[in-house]
Amino acid sequence: MTDSGTECTYCGCDVYRHDPVFVEELENGERVSAGSFCNYACLTSYVEAENLSLGATCELPPE
Ligand SMILES: [Zn+2]
Repeated sequence: MTDSGTECTYCGCDVYRHDPVFVEELENGERVSAGSFCNYACLTSYVEAENLSLGATCELPPE
């Protein structure tokens, strides 16, 4: 993964030419960049392609 911050993590386009979405993760208490995307479509495609959402659903409290 590049950390340039301007290339889409999924498709490699310049995200600033679109409607950019940025993702951060928490590592050792610090927010670190986990990806930059043209838009939610690229983010969603990336998550599905990498199976990042498998088994990762947070537990919702019962209503
Ligand atoms: Zn993209």
